[in-house]
Amino acid sequence: MSEAVATQLSGWGRTMPTVAQLVEANSSRQIADLITQSSSRGVLARGLGRSYGDAAQSGGATVIDMTTMTDFSLNPDSMSVTADAGASIDSILREIVPRGFFVPVSAGTRIITVGGAIAADIHGKNHHRDGSFGAHVTEMVVIDGLGEQHTLTPKDPKFWATIGGMGLTGIITRATFTVIPIQSSYICVDTERAKTLDSVMSSMMERDHEYRYTVAWIDSVSSSGRGVITRGDHASIAQCNSEGIKDPESYDPKNIATAPGLVPRGLLNKLSVRAFNEGWYRKHPRSRTGELQRIGAFFHPLDGVQDWNRIYGPRGFLQYQFQVPDTASDLVGVALSKLREIGAPSFLTVLKRFGPGNQGPLSFPQSGWTLAADLPAGISDLGRTLDELDERVSAVGGRLYLAKDSRQSPANFARTYPRLDEWRGIRDTMDPNHVFASDLSRRLEI
Ligand SMILES: Cc1cc2nc3c(=O)[nH]c(=O)nc-3n(C[C@H](O)[C@H](O)[C@H](O)COP(=O)(O)OP(=O)(O)OC[C@H]3O[C@@H](n4cnc5c(N)ncnc54)[C@H](O)[C@@H]3O)c2cc1C
Repeated sequence: MSEAVATQLSGWGRTMPTVAQLVEANSSRQIADLITQSSSRGVLARGLGRSYGDAAQSGGATVIDMTTMTDFSLNPDSMSVTADAGASIDSILREIVPRGFFVPVSAGTRIITVGGAIAADIHGKNHHRDGSFGAHVTEMVVIDGLGEQHTLTPKDPKFWATIGGMGLTGIITRATFTVIPIQSSYICVDTERAKTLDSVMSSMMERDHEYRYTVAWIDSVSSSGRGVITRGDHASIAQCNSEGIKDPESYDPKNIATAPGLVPRGLLNKLSVRAFNEGWYRKHPRSRTGELQRIGAFFHPLDGVQDWNRIYGPRGFLQYQFQVPDTASDLVGVALSKLREIGAPSFLTVLKRFGPGNQGPLSFPQSGWTLAADLPAGISDLGRTLDELDERVSAVGGRLYLAKDSRQSPANFARTYPRLDEWRGIRDTMDPNHVFASDLSRRLEI
C-alpha cells in the first residue's frame, strides 16, 4: 500500500486549507482496504483539485489521490471512452481529438479528472442542448462504503446518486462515457457584443438553440451589465480548408504563461478590473461570424495561464455560481448590482443557459440561467451580500453549485436541493457507516 503523507489540501480558490493523510491510489484492492480500514474521519477521493471550495479536501481524513490511475481507451466503433477515474480530460482530449472525437461535455478547464467530472456532474456551454456529463456516462465502477465493488448503469438509482454526489456515495474507479464525432480541432465561432444585460439575455433566449455551444461574458463592473456572447459549433473540414488551415485535426494546447506568484494585495482591485473589463469588451467586435478558433481557445482559455488562481494573492478567492429558473431571470441583474454595490471586482463573470436537469438528486443544473462570478475572498460585506443572495436564489427555487461552493449554510443547501432526503436514503445503502466525508459534507451536514 502507498504510504500516507500528511498534506495540506485546498480547492482551486485556495481558501480554507486543511491537512489530510494523502495516499496515492494504485489499485481497486488498495482503495477497498483504505475504505474498510479508515479512521473515524473517513475517506475521500480527490481528482485534480479544480473544485473551488472544500469538496475535495477532508481535514484529518484519508484522502485518496486518484490521479495516479490514468489508463483509458477510445472505442471508435461504439463512440465511447472507458477510463480510469483519475485520467484527466486533458490527456483524453490529446488522444481523441486527432482521431476525430470530442468529449460530450467540457468544463471551462480540461485539467480535471473523469471522476471529478462525474462526481460534480459538470456542465458546459452546451447544457441547453446536451445536458451535463452524467447524461453521457453509460457505466461506472464504484467501490462503496463497505469496500465492495459495483458496476452501475443508468438503470440503477445508485448510479444517479453518484452523478453529482461529490464523492460521498463511493469511489469511482472506472467509467465509460460516449464521445461525439468531430471533423476538426476548430470551432466555428460567432461573436456578438451587447450593450445591456437585457440585450445579452434576450439574444441568448432567442438564439441559443441555433448553436451547440453558447456562453456570455458579462462586464460585472459596468452598471449596464453589457456583455460579449460567443456561440459556436465544431468546424467542418470544408470550413477549415476554406480558411487555409493546414492541419485541421492537430491538437496540442500549450501553456503560454505562468501567472505571477503572489500578486501584492490590492493589485487586483475595482480599478484594475474596470480597466480589464473595458479592454475585454472593446477587444471584441460588435458582431463577427464564422471565426475559426482552436478548441483550447474556445473552451479552456484560462488553461493557457498556469496557476492563474494565484493572482488573487494569499487570501484566495471564491466563485459564486447559482442557477435560477426563467421565471426569476431578474435575479441575474439583482446579483450583479448587489456585487457592484460592495465594489466586488470580478473579471470573470459568466452567464449560461441551462436545459432540463437529469435524474441525479444532487445534480446542479436545472432549466434557466446560471451566473458564475469569481470574487476575491475578504472583500468587506461579501459574506453578508452572498447570504442575502442565497436567500433570494432559494426563494425562487434556485440553488448553488457544490463544486464551487465554500460558504453557504446547511439550511440553505437543504432548502435548495429538495431531493436531498431521497439521495441520503440511497447513500445510506451505499455507505451505511458514512465513511465518505469531506470538509464540504461536514460544513453542509450532508
Ligand atoms: C477554471 C475552471 C473552470 C471550470 N469550469 C467549469 C464549468 O464550466 N462547468 C463545471 O461544471 N465545472 C467547472 N469547473 C469545476 C470543475 O469542473 C469541477 O469542480 C470538477 O469536479 C473538478 O474535477 P477534479 O478532477 O479537479 O475534481 P476535484 O476538485 O479533485 O474533486 C471534486 C469532487 O469530486 C470528487 N471526486 C473526485 N474524484 C472522484 C472519484 N474518483 N470518485 C468519487 N468522487 C470523486 C471529490 O471527492 C470532490 O467532491 C471549473 C473549474 C475551474 C478551476
